[in-house]
Amino acid sequence: MFNSLKAQAPDKILALMGQFRADPRTDKIDLGVGVYKDAEGRTPVMRAIKSAEKQLWETETTKTYTALAGEPAFHAAMAEMVLGAGYPADRLSCLATVGGTGACRQAFELARLANPGCTVWVSDPTWPNHLSILAFMKQDYKLYRYFDNDARAVAFDAMMEDLQAIKAGDVVLLHGCCHNPTGANLTLDQWAAVADLLEAKGAVPMIDLAYQGFGDGLEEDAAGTRLIAARLPEVMIAASCSKNFGIYRERTGCLMVLSDAASKEVTQGTLAYLNRQNYSFSPDHGARLVTMVLTDPTLRAEWMTELEEVRKGMLGLREQLAAELRQLSNSDRFDFVARHRGMFSRLGASPEAVEKMRVDNAIYMVGDSRLNIAGLNAKTVPILARAIIAAGV
Ligand code: PMP
Repeated sequence: MFNSLKAQAPDKILALMGQFRADPRTDKIDLGVGVYKDAEGRTPVMRAIKSAEKQLWETETTKTYTALAGEPAFHAAMAEMVLGAGYPADRLSCLATVGGTGACRQAFELARLANPGCTVWVSDPTWPNHLSILAFMKQDYKLYRYFDNDARAVAFDAMMEDLQAIKAGDVVLLHGCCHNPTGANLTLDQWAAVADLLEAKGAVPMIDLAYQGFGDGLEEDAAGTRLIAARLPEVMIAASCSKNFGIYRERTGCLMVLSDAASKEVTQGTLAYLNRQNYSFSPDHGARLVTMVLTDPTLRAEWMTELEEVRKGMLGLREQLAAELRQLSNSDRFDFVARHRGMFSRLGASPEAVEKMRVDNAIYMVGDSRLNIAGLNAKTVPILARAIIAAGV
């Protein structure tokens, strides 16, 4: 039967990684894959995570199954980090998931169970996995315009115009912060306008929060999510711990669902059911480390310090790149690099310009001209700036 299988298109970013590895040039620069790298190009295990692992090794006495939806302590720690200390526990259901991807998948599954005819609205562009999972699930989705390629900023009027077509019970997927792939984000006023619209239409926001702490700060990056959670009766939040805790391969994420209090029990039960149908229990190791880091004051302080180092390092690279480009182009047209937030910026370059930078300068970025700021360091920023100008961007 397997001879009937059709080859799937390879993941573009993983294919780019392979191409990068095969490039013999020693001065090559990888701005492709969405992984944080320090100035030496390493993706270190965070110090607080190392300490928590040591403590866990010393104190853990069993590896027996945990709760199907994950540990309540993990739920509480994540809810507090994402929603703030006063979160409405009586309306909140939580699910430990296999990374942020698993949280997104389970959110789509939950929406499909609750409202089989719904449409999921997704920003254009978005993280490609959103689209491929929705297509795989045969879930109806529509795109709303999000990015103005000339201004390299959120096309807010176009976004709101497109979202006029949403219906009650539709799901609107929003990136909580650090939009992937563009780096362009909603202001708080814009979040409030989106909340008004979704409230008026009776649509359900689904917030993908994969980079909390990578933009303006841990609290600041949750501000849009908190505004939506305070305003809307029903909300889904898919949070990833991969980046902000640096535990990519541990596969740690959390789906949070706000419903009315009367529906909480069934909602919570349905979340556990979804884990059961797909893979039973989610991985526990990463979730346990995250819980320890968030609830132990010493570990938490150490983690916050390192997270701030990571965030400020990326902001510094943004400032440096924008300054180099200002000088080389004798204009402010690249200042958006400093305004964008998170690991990514979409340059707005043509596929030909992206290819030219790869061929001429061994600079690898995704074909849509998304570059990973964390792939740079103080020495490679000027090289990239010169290549961008030489490619006629
Ligand atoms: N959402 C977005 C927008 C992302 O960029 C990512 C990471 N690439 C994720 C979700 C989920 O990541 P993970 O499954 O590794 O936690």
